[in-house]
Amino acid sequence: THQIHIVGGGLAGSEAAWQLAEAGIKVRLSEMRGVEGTPAHHTDSLAELVCSNSFRSDDAANNAVGLLHAEMRELGSLILKTADAHRVPAGSALAVDRDGFAIGVTQAIAAHPNIDLVRERVDALPEGPAILATGPLTGAALAEAIRAETGEDALAFFDAIAPIVHRESIDMDTAWFQSRWNKGDGHDYINCPMNKDEYLAFHDALLTGEKGEFKEWEKNTPYFEGCMPIEVMADRGTDTLRYGPMKPVGLDDPRTGRWPYAVVQLRQDNALGTLWNIVGFQTKLKHAEQVRIFRMIPGLQHAEFARLGGLHRNTFIQSPKLLDRTLRLRGRPNIRFAGQITGCEGYVESAAIGLMAGRFAVAELAGAELASPPIETALGALLSHVTGGATAETFQPMNVNFGLFPPIPGKTKKTERKALITARAREALAGWIAA
Ligand code: FAD
Repeated sequence: THQIHIVGGGLAGSEAAWQLAEAGIKVRLSEMRGVEGTPAHHTDSLAELVCSNSFRSDDAANNAVGLLHAEMRELGSLILKTADAHRVPAGSALAVDRDGFAIGVTQAIAAHPNIDLVRERVDALPEGPAILATGPLTGAALAEAIRAETGEDALAFFDAIAPIVHRESIDMDTAWFQSRWNKGDGHDYINCPMNKDEYLAFHDALLTGEKGEFKEWEKNTPYFEGCMPIEVMADRGTDTLRYGPMKPVGLDDPRTGRWPYAVVQLRQDNALGTLWNIVGFQTKLKHAEQVRIFRMIPGLQHAEFARLGGLHRNTFIQSPKLLDRTLRLRGRPNIRFAGQITGCEGYVESAAIGLMAGRFAVAELAGAELASPPIETALGALLSHVTGGATAETFQPMNVNFGLFPPIPGKTKKTERKALITARAREALAGWIAA
């Protein structure tokens, strides 16, 4: 008999199972691969890396994901321990031998006396304590069960995302705050103006820019209404964008007092106001092309991107609305969610949310409550994005990045800011562990 049921043996489910088992809790871990595959996985190993073999930067002093690595190591992460053991040379990044890594995780889980690894597909929500960690390619029947429990539109099958820009990299000598027709409180949008020549050059760049290829299994995924890629819209006519997302009406450029020829708008993306998404700019352009072309926009010439746009199939829930701060489904608190399905993105982030779900469950099974890691830590910043930092309407999966941390108060040099944030994080994590 088990005390908790974990569904999905990917990055998040394996980490959650490990944290629980190490704390002496009996776990049933259900993984469908072995019985049934997914469109992206190639093996039956737990924690298979479906694409790149990189856990990205390992620089804990200057990089947000490097900091997350360090915090996870500190908390006994199986994923990080196994990654370190199977490291391959990759400069300052942590990259792994993908087979060695996945086999290492599988063996550690299978050998743990407190974990019962079962190869089975789960189609319904478990009745007892459970963690759902079924990832972006959650089995169809379970996805349907989650949708039925959470409400029709709560389980998003997202096809397109727009790029997100760090606020501090926007040139506010060119861009300005204003809502169309001055509705709202005046700070709802940042506007970037274009004259006719700039618009035509930009339009041309969208048409000729290099686009990503669709994977075979992605081809059947339709575009959502209102989610048309910007370059597809541009292809419909020279002025289509000027009557769509780049409409200038009701927006007065403070330098001329007039409406520009076209306007690119950015909308606040997180409660801290550090991240802004480019409205209507979902795209399938290649990443390097996005950086080149979107920096043609006046005001964004030095833009730093917290994430770039993209199109692919994904399953995630509206976590800020549906989950409490310990990742429990509000309407059905015996169920926790973990991994990419909660709306984080990436191997490391998914494992990190798994680690926290596991630890929250350990505390709960012991009749205690675990305080969330402080928002100054990478774990806390990521958790806060997932469970409430982002505005629920614009919630999109995201990698950990410095825009999710509260800014350092007062004036600081840009070159020193990252080191200040990571130093503050180390102190906050130590305080949390001590408590
Ligand atoms: P997963 O690792 O996908 O694990 C979920 C597990 O649940 C799977 O093993 C699945 O078989 C199992 N499962 C699903 N449904 C059921 C069910 N009903 N019953 C039982 N088991 C079930 N991230 C990066 O950092 N770098 C990349 O290069 C990258 N490339 C990606 C490419 C693609 C095509 C996709 C889809 C994602 C990519 N990601 C990448 C994101 C990455 O896959 C995820 O962030 C990460 O794997 C998610 O971890 P997870 O544990 O939430 O889900």
